[in-house]
Amino acid sequence: MDNLVKGWEAIIGLEVHAQISTKSKLFSRSSTGFGNDPNTQVSFYDAAMPGMLPTLNENAIDQAIKSGFGINGTINKMSRFDRKNYFYPDLPSGYQISQFYYPIVTDGHIDISLQNGGKKTVNIERIHVEQDAGKSIHDLSSEFSYVDLNRSGVPLMEIVSKPDMRSSYEAIQYVKKLRMILRYIGACDCNMEQGNLRVDANVSIRKPGDSLGSRIEIKNINSIRFLGQAIDYEIERQIITIESGEKITQETRLFDSNLTETRSMRSKENAADYRYFPDPDLKSVILTDDRINKLKSEMPELPDIKRERFLNDYGLSGSDIDVLIEDKQTALLFEEAVLSSKFKPIESAKLISNWMICELFAVLNKEEKTINSLGFPIRYIAELVDLIIEKTISGKIAKTVFVEMIKNGDPPAKIVQDLSLIQIQDESTIKSIIEQVIKDNPTLAEQYKAGKIQLFGFFVGETMKRLQGKGNPEKINEILRETLG
Ligand code: MN
Repeated sequence: MDNLVKGWEAIIGLEVHAQISTKSKLFSRSSTGFGNDPNTQVSFYDAAMPGMLPTLNENAIDQAIKSGFGINGTINKMSRFDRKNYFYPDLPSGYQISQFYYPIVTDGHIDISLQNGGKKTVNIERIHVEQDAGKSIHDLSSEFSYVDLNRSGVPLMEIVSKPDMRSSYEAIQYVKKLRMILRYIGACDCNMEQGNLRVDANVSIRKPGDSLGSRIEIKNINSIRFLGQAIDYEIERQIITIESGEKITQETRLFDSNLTETRSMRSKENAADYRYFPDPDLKSVILTDDRINKLKSEMPELPDIKRERFLNDYGLSGSDIDVLIEDKQTALLFEEAVLSSKFKPIESAKLISNWMICELFAVLNKEEKTINSLGFPIRYIAELVDLIIEKTISGKIAKTVFVEMIKNGDPPAKIVQDLSLIQIQDESTIKSIIEQVIKDNPTLAEQYKAGKIQLFGFFVGETMKRLQGKGNPEKINEILRETLG
């Protein structure tokens, strides 16, 4: 499959800024809480008062190391913080502390799924740890701009991919996969609306085989949908520009989500413009083997491995597994249910998966709930499935039980008891009902016997109705066939 647009190939690399999940900032003890009153989470250090010194938040470093494992990267035993100098009103110190020369993680990669079902490896150049800046607020007043420093100094990881992606689809798959991995690890909430995952996209185009064209950086994209729109717009814009005889010059652009277009922000700075130099107030970060190994031992099972295991252990389809493992908690609950079934996974897992995906998720979506706010323990799903497998109830009756379970949180066996829903297996009971049905519909019975076999469904339905939906469907079919001849 090629990704060419009008004979042009798009080259895409992404820089993802992920806010590290910590309670306090990277170099101070101020809270990282979101949505609080402006400038209520600002220490003297965050406000860059003279003489204040940074103290490194070791937990932020630990999370970055785990993220490094998550992307199959090399954890560097020595990393170092540098000052990146630039002026902006939301940056009171006049520099951002970042890891430029010696990042903590290098040479990683993750696999993404392609539209054709194949896989592609996207290489990741580095993860470095840095501080976030504050926020300028321009829309509160027509006269003034305001600065909120609550975000100033919040720990970020910048995850820089190689320019390995060739379409907006691949870029979206990459961000989704990265987000899933970081959430599994717990290193970042990846809530794009709250800005704790932001994407910068570098986009250029070339004719296949040519050397790389000048790239455009689109800054601070804060939703997956906007990422796709921004990249597609930018590819199209560059093609039109070049084909009309103009040149693309390296610059930074912003995506306007209202107009779905990018527009020029500034010409792109090069590293030299920032006058990077080692921060004299911070020691190098030196990692011991003990620390690295301890963090490695704390790593959760990651999505790719979990997927493989679910394929082997539970015999589910790939697409069902993708739904179940998208969220780590859902995957854990699914397994909890499977393990609590009376039956072996090979018998129960598929049914439990179906009930979770088709019935449970539908209800959760409708009621805008999450799987963590269920009104009953997840093993009830397994109990329901057990009742189906052992033929105490039919799949149809199970839906009635399920509705009750959602409503009042009772265990399925109790609901079956209370509503007397146990399946009628007794052949003589079923047979006597069938005989009654035939007696009451003599004309139809004659027509069936004369060859109008599509009437069979009528007799099944009528029998089931008289058994209040509780008859065993296979037995009804079998006895009907015998009786009608
Ligand atoms: Mn950055």
